[in-house]
Amino acid sequence: MQLPRFHRLRSAYYHLEGQACSACGAVQFPARRSCLACRSEELERRPLSGRGTVFSYSEAVAGFEGFAPPHLMALIELEEGPMVAAQLSDVEPEEIEIGMEVEMVTRRIRELAPQGYIVYGYRFRPRLEVEAGR
Ligand SMILES: [Zn+2]
Repeated sequence: MQLPRFHRLRSAYYHLEGQACSACGAVQFPARRSCLACRSEELERRPLSGRGTVFSYSEAVAGFEGFAPPHLMALIELEEGPMVAAQLSDVEPEEIEIGMEVEMVTRRIRELAPQGYIVYGYRFRPRLEVEAGR
């Protein structure tokens, strides 16, 4: 992601802010011009809980620029409904299950060496209170 785009989206990514449609009530993430369900443009900001469940996941063994493999990529179904693709954190590949409860955490994603600019972003980890209850 280029830096100007990162800055523009930072609020949404740090707080996982989505949108709620005033017309039909659908919640979506990330922000868009119009509602995916009914195309209404009457959308309001909606902070999301950051909690969800693992809908699907995969382990990527090849790295891509600025990231060290392996990466555990998952599709998370947020409790408000939207799906978000993100890396999993604080979990071993063999511990991951479909339907596992997860929560968003902010992690250092990469460091852009020339500017020394550190990019933080969201990942998801197993929900701590769920683990404590086992
Ligand atoms: Zn709508």
